[in-house]
Amino acid sequence: MDLGIKDKKAIVCAASKGLGKACALSLARNGVDLVINSRTASELEATAAEIRAATGRSVTAVACDITTPEGRARVLAACPNPDILINNAGGPPRGDFREWDEAAWMKAVNGNMVTPIMLIKSVVDGMIARKFGRIVNITSGSVKSPIPELGMSNGARAGLTGFVGGLARQVARHNVTINGLLPGPFLTDRLRAGAIEAARKSGRSVEDVLADRAKVNPTGRVGDPFEFGEACAFLCAASSGFIVGQNLLLDGGAFNSTIG
Ligand code: NAP
Repeated sequence: MDLGIKDKKAIVCAASKGLGKACALSLARNGVDLVINSRTASELEATAAEIRAATGRSVTAVACDITTPEGRARVLAACPNPDILINNAGGPPRGDFREWDEAAWMKAVNGNMVTPIMLIKSVVDGMIARKFGRIVNITSGSVKSPIPELGMSNGARAGLTGFVGGLARQVARHNVTINGLLPGPFLTDRLRAGAIEAARKSGRSVEDVLADRAKVNPTGRVGDPFEFGEACAFLCAASSGFIVGQNLLLDGGAFNSTIG
């Protein structure tokens, strides 16, 4: 399937590994040139080299914290007029909400709500002027089905989703779309870290914890980041202009409902 995005330019945030990297790879395989970001320069450079070698596309690495105004300015300086923006950042910590003070909440809201909104604000008018834009926010299945120990994720990401739900309808007539991709369990470092923590608390092995995560899913497995990247690229296709303000849950059917 030709996605019709060859030679487009994309910013993919938080993309040295995991879901962000998978999105970057899928876009590059479809002919998109990239600016990718994450904080650890060595890992980011290695990922950029890997994507260049695999796809032959231009990949610029900007090592910085995307949740800071300085970091965002550096990323935008490297790609002032993106056709595609993939918003992503690390998720907030797990815990009991009684442990979280105001500073912890502000950090979560900044990282998972304000940061993507600031990036959208910086690029959306250019997209409108050029009559093409695809914005995908990587959020979480927690937007649809709250995860008790991830209260800050539930809250901050729902805030982003609410804001974007309104904005998406304001920009769609200019062929600019904004949609959410909601990951369930995907085998990334983030999922492994959660499994290591659960194993430590329960005295079980990490392998057992991961096997249980897989067993309870209707697919009998956890997701492959490749599958997530491909869904992201599809939302960015030229022919996806009528997919507006949607939140696509990629969880192997774990959320049990007849519709939606
Ligand atoms: P991951 O494998 O841990 O990768 C996170 C990536 O984000 C890394 O490249 C990391 O690099 C970068 N990053 C983190 N904070 C950053 C910052 N402030 N500025 C720039 N880059 C940053 O995580 P993942 O599993 O791909 O998760 C991606 C997002 O999806 C997270 O928000 C996560 O909570 C959410 N999510 C994941 C799952 C899942 O099953 N994997 C499920 C639901 C939601 P550096 O550390 O070097 O910056």
